[in-house]
Amino acid sequence: MATKKTTAAHEYSFFNSVERSFDKAAKFTKFDKGLLEQIKACNSVYQMRFPVNIRGQVQVIEAYRVQHSHHKLPCKGGIRYSTAVNQDEVMALAALMTYKCATVNVPFGGGKGGIKINPKDYTVEELERITRRYAAELVKKNFIGPGIDVPAPDYGSGEREMGWILDTYQAMRPGEIDSAGCITGKPIAQGGVRGRKEATGLGVFYGIREMLSNVEDMKKLGMTTGVEGKRVAVQGLGNVGYHAAHYFHANGAIVVGLSEMEGSIFNPKGLDVEAVMACRRETGSILNYKHATKTTKKASDVLECDCDILIPAALENVIDGSNAAKVKAKIIGEAANGPLTPEADEILLKKGAVVVPDMYLNAGGVTVSYFEWLKNLSHVRFGRMEKRFQEGAHANMLNTVESLTGKKVSAAERKLIAHGPDEVDLVYSGLEDSMIVSYNEIREMRLSNKKITDLRTASFANAINKIGDSYLQLGIFP
Ligand code: NAD
Repeated sequence: MATKKTTAAHEYSFFNSVERSFDKAAKFTKFDKGLLEQIKACNSVYQMRFPVNIRGQVQVIEAYRVQHSHHKLPCKGGIRYSTAVNQDEVMALAALMTYKCATVNVPFGGGKGGIKINPKDYTVEELERITRRYAAELVKKNFIGPGIDVPAPDYGSGEREMGWILDTYQAMRPGEIDSAGCITGKPIAQGGVRGRKEATGLGVFYGIREMLSNVEDMKKLGMTTGVEGKRVAVQGLGNVGYHAAHYFHANGAIVVGLSEMEGSIFNPKGLDVEAVMACRRETGSILNYKHATKTTKKASDVLECDCDILIPAALENVIDGSNAAKVKAKIIGEAANGPLTPEADEILLKKGAVVVPDMYLNAGGVTVSYFEWLKNLSHVRFGRMEKRFQEGAHANMLNTVESLTGKKVSAAERKLIAHGPDEVDLVYSGLEDSMIVSYNEIREMRLSNKKITDLRTASFANAINKIGDSYLQLGIFP
């Protein structure tokens, strides 16, 4: 069954809306119809049903793994745990992964998985049983492996689930030297990389910060440059939303609105993100946060609040034809996958707002997953070989400067300058670079043709060009 979104004018599925964006952008690329059809198609769809014993009763679990594109291997994409999971949604998310990887120059094809359950309905032991059985199904059908398809966390899953999947894979494929690379987003102790957990939210921050740094673009929006003082609202305080809100808050933005399932909270003077999270952990609801000036029980109210930057970070289709006109933000940063319908896109474009598309903005997760995979294949922690060497070289340089000038640097300055990179420093640096380079590629693509009026079309065109070129290298297309 498809994720149908009905509005007065249209009914379309999530996959259709990805295809619609693709078709709009394909006009600006150089490829013929056959090649474009191949890029657009989902290569493999594996729908499965498996039994799991839940409190003495057999429950048949519905699950999926989709490999959208094999133009580069392995395929890459998270596993979603949600009752809303269906084939159409997983196909759409897998397709987005293909374009996302191309956008941030990560050499993978797109994939996605989904298990149709609400994780909150199960105990930890039951979730482990479901996850391990799902992993076993993937192994049986050769739908997982460091060179085949490498899942990661998504909505409803995290490093705990990735750890279970790795363990199941290793139990079924003993002796595989690169087996840790069969999954990313793992706990550090099982071969994960430092910085992966916060990567998507941090990438959202880096992406918007890069956009805000452009004087010309900000002038067009009637905004000043820089993060400081910008009013930000975030929907969804899970892995992506919380980290995005955290980095905006930590870098001087004013977080004026936050929302979770239970409702929305506001304060034009700013909400303390860490305190809101602590309140939710302790009381079960953000609505109990004392320093909000307004609280409402509608999670979607945050989307319409008075702010400069809106970050939808929960699920798809939350802004559509019915509420897009009420969005006040000038910049909408798609931290979630597919939070805007095509109708919402059109309405916001007409209003003069800028949408920073998901396939670029939330690509920080897959970028750092790529680093994790590289770490697993190389079997060495980033920084292990060079950290001490660089510290020594920097110290020698400082000593030379001191002896030549006769001046001493302070202990604090010495620590700052001589510090050799740890794994997390290198991961952040690689992520920051990827987000900056990719933003400017997309921006240039948009400026290259007057008919490209939005960043989503520019992102798609940029990604299609890269994927098309790699298909052409196969020599099977004229
Ligand atoms: P998550 O499960 O950690 O968090 C999602 C949060 O949104 C939950 O806390 C949930 O309660 C909340 N939520 C759900 N519906 C809501 C609503 N209507 N209003 C307000 N809050 C609501 O999931 P996540 O990993 O943060 O993923 C969020 C989105 O980001 C998804 O679209 C996912 O596909 C996308 N994404 C995630 C990653 C990643 O690395 N985790 C990477 C790229 C994209």
